[in-house]
Amino acid sequence: MEKKIVNNYGSFDVIFEKSKGSTMWAADGKKYIDFIAGIGVNCLGHNYKPLVKAISRQARRQIHISNYYFSDVGLDFAENLLKVTGFERGYFGNSGAEANEAAIKLARKYGQLNGGDKRKTIVTLESSFHGRTLATLTATGQDRFHPDCFAPYPEGFKTIKANDFEAIKTAFDDTTAALFIECIQGEGGVNLINPEWAKAAADAARAAGAIVMADEVQTGVGRTGTYLASDWLGFKPEVVTLAKGIAGGVPMGACLFRGKAADVFVAGDHQSTFAGNPLACAAGLVVLETVSDPAFLDRVNHAGDYIRGAIASWNLPIVKDVRGKGLMIGTQIDSSIKPFDIEVRCLEKGLCTTTAGSDVVRFLPPLNISDKEIDEGLAIYKSVLEEFCK
Ligand SMILES: *Cc1c(COP(=O)(O)O)cnc(C)c1O
Repeated sequence: MEKKIVNNYGSFDVIFEKSKGSTMWAADGKKYIDFIAGIGVNCLGHNYKPLVKAISRQARRQIHISNYYFSDVGLDFAENLLKVTGFERGYFGNSGAEANEAAIKLARKYGQLNGGDKRKTIVTLESSFHGRTLATLTATGQDRFHPDCFAPYPEGFKTIKANDFEAIKTAFDDTTAALFIECIQGEGGVNLINPEWAKAAADAARAAGAIVMADEVQTGVGRTGTYLASDWLGFKPEVVTLAKGIAGGVPMGACLFRGKAADVFVAGDHQSTFAGNPLACAAGLVVLETVSDPAFLDRVNHAGDYIRGAIASWNLPIVKDVRGKGLMIGTQIDSSIKPFDIEVRCLEKGLCTTTAGSDVVRFLPPLNISDKEIDEGLAIYKSVLEEFCK
């Protein structure tokens, strides 16, 4: 009965009115625990005082000035972001797709400068997700994102299977401009990349003359327990892209470069009107300062291990795997059950979650979610999973 009712839902008709920490309230007064943080965006939760204060203060000083000029907060944020990440230069944009578009353009220009017109191919991974613009859709290694209605798609993309050592042997040659790795496949099902494989693939790509780029739009900004996931993956990309959590909810993206990629873009190559406006940079500064603190990142790791440990300890027959890193968490569910139905039932009982791939329920809670909110959310999740075991 429950399942039938659940299946009737097509969309969520919840209207949220206000939120604090990792708790949100709907217009009807109903309370929800937030295990999704606006798809990994609200990394400091809702209504985080220092963030609200910095945004209000910046709004009174100046919101936008264009990239004809520099802003003090923009320079501060760039300098601190490069210091924390170890990159040399950067470009600011407004979203993940836009950050990835910058990376793709950079890779193509790098290819042309280092091998002529034939070195233009960008190699991405099967099951990856890189965004919804035409180039980033094409880079996305999932056919369901390539319907005929949006064709023609741009040329110059190729996919290989992640974690497949055989595939590396033939993947790269003098036509390869870049290898582009999504560090943990978020939309694809919270699929982990094997660090040994990532390093081997990066070595092979570089040996063929290509650069290596990391899509950290979802994994970056502390989500997986280090500021960048490529830090623990260990393959040292020349280009990294960030967005989602970077400014705690204010739309922003970044593409950072170093080494062979540092000097590819020159003035005029790539820009955007809103990019890196002072309001977003003021927010970004607060997030960066808070999230890059080692004690904060330790807590992210502990909280993630606690949540995965709790779900595994329930020993529920429909749970096939619990995986992820830090506060990027996937529960793989038995294929007889649609994860979307679990998401709907969780929402009915006051827990916001999302799905990933074909069989995964995904959590991306605020990175500073309290122990109490974690336990409240887990209690709801457990009761929902138990319903589906019946
Ligand atoms: C969300 C996401 C994107 C796209 O970001 P938008 O801000 O929605 O354009 C790209 N890559 C990854 C890995 C993502 O998770």
